[in-house]
Amino acid sequence: MPDRPHRKPHIGGNWKMNLHHQDAAALAGALADRFDAATTDAVDVTVFPAFPYLAAVSSVLCEKGSQIAVGAQDGYAEPNGAFTGEVSMSMLKDVGVRCVLVGHSERRHVIGETDELVNAKLHAALDAGLDVILAVGEKLEQREAGKTDYINTGQLGYGLAGVTDEQMSRITIAYEPVWAIGTGKTATPDDAQKAHVVIRQAVAFMFDQAVADGVRIQYGGSMKPANARDLLDQPDIDGGLIGGASLKADDFAGIVDAAK
Ligand code: PEP
Repeated sequence: MPDRPHRKPHIGGNWKMNLHHQDAAALAGALADRFDAATTDAVDVTVFPAFPYLAAVSSVLCEKGSQIAVGAQDGYAEPNGAFTGEVSMSMLKDVGVRCVLVGHSERRHVIGETDELVNAKLHAALDAGLDVILAVGEKLEQREAGKTDYINTGQLGYGLAGVTDEQMSRITIAYEPVWAIGTGKTATPDDAQKAHVVIRQAVAFMFDQAVADGVRIQYGGSMKPANARDLLDQPDIDGGLIGGASLKADDFAGIVDAAK
């Protein structure tokens, strides 16, 4: 059997629209205290606070000399101009952001973002020098209709259109079945692994096998310390994108430990 390609696990904590200033800074400080250099050497950790606290979280992590990266939950596709309420990728970079999340199911299905907008945001982030997590995932009715792979590879194809092989090294893919997000229902390790294999094959088809072997694919959807190890033990699961369990330092640390 060929060796499993080494991919450094990537764990993201998506804080969503939670935690005001003091709580966000306190959680960042607690994570920085817990994740020593040995941990962040073994696992890439990115936290995604709400926009108003990006700079504060970034400076807490910086003051503590932490290698935890700060990510933004969104960013706009245009570089500047008359786009009231939006925030450009270079503005995010300015306040210490290193990574941007695009294609999260809440942005696709609650806010109504299209595949084209997801792709435009992905390119804007890469052009600004930021890393990207591209999230894909099927809804329950799509899974029940046997369309899981069709939906995931479709979102992947649109999301990654126009991306170069070199840029793929700055992209992490997150497979997040929509029915598992925030519901307490988790895909079985076997089901998640199967979806990850199909996603990796699609990357090989769009790029080549070396790119597919190198790309990290996170699982997201009610990952917790109790189920993290079984999921992360799967050969094609290279980390997790964590919502609810990322809001508590102990839970998030338990998942990062399982990834080590
Ligand atoms: C998410 O929002 O990306 C997520 C996976 O949430 P949760 O862990 O709460 O299911």
